[in-house]
Amino acid sequence: MAVNPFKTFLLPELLRGLMVTARTFVSNKYTLNYPEEKTPQSPRFRGLHALRRYANGQERCIACKLCEAVCPAVCITIDSDVGPDGTRRTSRYDIDLFKCIYCGFCEEACPVDAIVLTRIHEYHMEKRGENIMSKDMLLAVGDRYEAMIAADRAADAPFR
Ligand code: SF4
Ligand code: SF4
Repeated sequence: MAVNPFKTFLLPELLRGLMVTARTFVSNKYTLNYPEEKTPQSPRFRGLHALRRYANGQERCIACKLCEAVCPAVCITIDSDVGPDGTRRTSRYDIDLFKCIYCGFCEEACPVDAIVLTRIHEYHMEKRGENIMSKDMLLAVGDRYEAMIAADRAADAPFR
């Protein structure tokens, strides 16, 4: 291959590389000092699951099992029974977080907005079995973060 004297002596590739360095040096930086600094989150962020209640405290979930049927990872397990008020309710609602792929299909399928994926993404497990979110745990997350969940759903409503 013939030697290009222009490239050999003037090193244009090197100059181009240095220009990239110079441009990046003065441009905005995208590094965040996590966890003190955080990126903005969409109201559609799909994090930890929660089960919601109505304002009067009644569970929204009617044990229709649509979420269980639609879940591609087969990580939802539901048992149903008749509640004290004669309505159909879940006696067991478990989600295996190790299997979950956070696709949001359960949330999309739910006719009563009972199961939702919250913005919560900073959680961990320390003991064997903590990957199973039981009904009580899911309801506790829902109770604690209901204001945030309701605000996120309202912000996303025009696009649904
Ligand atoms: S987010 Fe997807 S994988 Fe996870 S429980 Fe819901 S449907 Fe299943
Ligand atoms: S969470 Fe929603 S889709 Fe799942 S069983 Fe309850 S009502 Fe049905």
